[in-house]
Amino acid sequence: MRLKCIGATETVTGSKHLLETETNERILLDCGLFQGLGKATDELNRHLGVDPSALDAVVLSHAHIDHSGNLPLLVKQGFKGHIYCTLPTLILCEVLLMDSAHIQQSDIAYINKKREAEDKEPLKPLYTPHDVEKCLRHFRTVPYNADFFVTNSISIRFTDAGHILGSAVVNLTVKENGKLTRFCYTGDVGRYNDLILKDPAVFPQADYIVCESTYGDRLHEPDVNAEERLLEIVMDTCVEKRGKLIIPAFSLGRTQEIVYVLDKLKNAGKLPDIKIYVDSPLSTDITDIMREHVTCFNERLQEYIKTDPDPFGFSNLRYIREKNDSMALNESKEPCIIIAASGMMDAGRIKHHLANSISNPRNTVLVVGYCTPGSLGGDIREKKAHVRIFGKPYDVKARIEVLDNYSAHADYQELIRFLSCQDKKAVKEVFLVHGEQAAKLAFKEKLQAEGFTRVTLPHPSETFML
Ligand SMILES: [Zn+2]
Repeated sequence: MRLKCIGATETVTGSKHLLETETNERILLDCGLFQGLGKATDELNRHLGVDPSALDAVVLSHAHIDHSGNLPLLVKQGFKGHIYCTLPTLILCEVLLMDSAHIQQSDIAYINKKREAEDKEPLKPLYTPHDVEKCLRHFRTVPYNADFFVTNSISIRFTDAGHILGSAVVNLTVKENGKLTRFCYTGDVGRYNDLILKDPAVFPQADYIVCESTYGDRLHEPDVNAEERLLEIVMDTCVEKRGKLIIPAFSLGRTQEIVYVLDKLKNAGKLPDIKIYVDSPLSTDITDIMREHVTCFNERLQEYIKTDPDPFGFSNLRYIREKNDSMALNESKEPCIIIAASGMMDAGRIKHHLANSISNPRNTVLVVGYCTPGSLGGDIREKKAHVRIFGKPYDVKARIEVLDNYSAHADYQELIRFLSCQDKKAVKEVFLVHGEQAAKLAFKEKLQAEGFTRVTLPHPSETFML
C-alpha cells in the first residue's frame, strides 16, 4: 500500500491524501482548498496532483473548506465515484461548497478586472454553483461507528472527531493479498470539554496514523474562564466606552459557540441591554443546521436545551442576511456586538466592519480563532500598529484581544490524550500533517517521548510505502 500526502503537509490548508493498494484501488482522503498562501494559492488549487478518473472513492473527514473545498473541481475533472461522509457533513457541504463557488465567482471577477487592464487572458473560477450541484450528487452518507466497504478491499469506520458538527476520524481497514492493514486518518481533532460538541472518541487500533498537528507546539489557555473574559470585554467596550465589539468568527462552530455563551450570559441576567448582530447569511444557515442536529451535542448542552430550547437565539440578537442591513451597521453609532465571517478576516463582511471600526479607540476587535501568519487576521492577532484592508492602510487604535479558548483544534496535550487509546508499540508509523513546520517538529519530539517510535513529517506530494 502507498500513501501520498499531497496537501496540508507543511501548512494547515489543502488537505488531500491518496491511498493506493497493491491491487490498484485508489481512494482520496479529503480534497480541500489551499487558503491564504498569497499568489501561490490559486495555482496550487488548480493542480489537483491526482488523476480524478483513476480514483475509486473519496472519503471526507469533515465539511471545512480546507478539507472539502476542491471536491467540485475533482468531479469537474472526471471523478466518477462516491464521496463518503457523515450526514451532517453532507448537509454542511451543501451550503459551504455553494458559498465557496460564490466567493470564487466574485474573486475571479475582481482578478479579471486587473488582468484586463494588463492585457492578460481572463481566468475562470475553479468551479461554479452548477459544478457544486453536480458534485453533491456523488455524496453518500455513512453513520458513525459502522463498518462500510468503499471499495472491494477497503472498509471505513467513522468515529467522532469532536472538531465540528459531523467531523469524523476515518479508520480504514485495507485487505491486500491476504494481509490486513489498519490505517487511521485523524482529519482535524477537536477539544475535550467543547462547549457544544462531544469529546473526540476513542478509535480502533491502527498500524499507521496520519495525524493533524495544528497546535503541535501549543497549549490552550488552561484556567481562564472564557465566559467571564468575554463579559469583561463586552462591559468595557459597549458599556464603559460605548463602542462596538467586533468578533471575526468562522460561520461554522465559532459563531454558534460565541452566541451560546452570550445566550448563557443573557439567561444569567449578566448581559447588558445592547444589540447583538450575527452578520452573515452563511452563519445564519449554519446555525439553522446546528439546531437540527441536537444528537451531536454533548450532554451538558442537551441538558441546557431542556430549559432553553434555542441556545442560539434570544431577544436583542438578530441574524442579518441582507447586504444593505449589514452596511447600515457602519452608520450606527450605538454600542453593539457584531459577529461576522470570515474568522481569518481574509474575506466576507468582517472586512468592512474592521475597516469601519479598527481605527477608533472606543472599539474592540476580539480574535477568537487561528489566523494564518501574514494574513490580515494574523497581523491583527499579532497586534500590529498598522494593517491593510481592501488595499488601504489603517492605524490600529481599537483594543485588540485574543481569546484562544474557542479553538476547534486540540492542543498538543489533547492530541496526546486522543492518541492514548493506541497501543504505541503496535503503531508502525505516525505521519504528521496539517501543521506549520515548527508545530510538527515540536509535536514529533513529544510523540517520541510518549513512545511512538517512528514519526514522519511528509513533504508536499511525498509518497510512502506502507
Ligand atoms: Zn477543520
